[in-house]
Amino acid sequence: MNIAMTERGGLAAPHLKDKVSLVTGSTSGIGLGIARALAASGSAVVLNGFGKPEEIKATQAAIGTDFGVPVAYSAADMSNPESIAEMIEMTLDMFGRLDVLVNNAGIQHVAPLQEFPVAKWDAILAINLSSAFHTTRLALPSMVANKWGRIINLASAHGLVGSPFKSAYVAAKHGMLGLTKVTALETAEQGITCNAICPGYVYTPLVEAQIDGQAKAHGIPREQVIRDILLAQQPNKRFATTDELGGIAVFLASDAAASITGAAIPVDGGWTAH
Ligand code: NAD
Repeated sequence: MNIAMTERGGLAAPHLKDKVSLVTGSTSGIGLGIARALAASGSAVVLNGFGKPEEIKATQAAIGTDFGVPVAYSAADMSNPESIAEMIEMTLDMFGRLDVLVNNAGIQHVAPLQEFPVAKWDAILAINLSSAFHTTRLALPSMVANKWGRIINLASAHGLVGSPFKSAYVAAKHGMLGLTKVTALETAEQGITCNAICPGYVYTPLVEAQIDGQAKAHGIPREQVIRDILLAQQPNKRFATTDELGGIAVFLASDAAASITGAAIPVDGGWTAH
């Protein structure tokens, strides 16, 4: 595999030419980084997620212009199985195939167990876990027919270890690793792989907002918030970037990764090596 860095910092080898990728939750953060990296590798992409319509249109246009690939968008709500089915149907109607599925959409809520809102538990399990079951079961027929497919599940370091006050998130991410293993086993002889990426902290707009919030709340400098609060568990004391996550997804979608399946890949600066 020939991966060269472009001036934009993306991955240049067009090894996904003629492939179609769907990335859930790709209007911001990690999902957007992965969608851009897949597009940089030549894949058509279907974006999904919430946001201001004009900003989503601009994102769509920018990816198309930067990488010269078709870019579609579905506003499907990942908590709703019917919307998910419509999104997959739209993808197959539009492109006739679905080759790379990235289950990335996710939300978080932090509260002690006895106070955890039941509606938040249900929403987190639906968006962070059940949506991947629905996209996977609906995408598989196309991948099986083409004898090629890549399913990449965004889990978390919290798929491997727990933290207090994150019951729903930790349960959903551990569940994601179980789904990843079963998907890998059921598809192992069909040219399809399924793997999970387990990031620690990744630098996204959401994280940026937390830095300022915590700095104000504790009256300490940004650098101290990053090192002592956000990255307390992360030994390398740096955030992963959305470009790094994009590169890992492109690698998992490459021929070089054809024998990697059912794996949980930590991208956590050593967090789960503790
Ligand atoms: P983000 O909030 O920047 O992006 C989440 C995306 O999901 C957005 O596009 C949003 O519109 C979309 N989304 C939310 N609810 C949705 C719904 N019901 N239907 C459709 N789309 C929906 O978050 P992020 O930090 O980029 O996280 C992406 C994934 O990576 C999540 O699964 C998250 O758990 C995981 N993750 C993130 C980090 C981190 O440090 N940022 C670490 C580990 C794992």
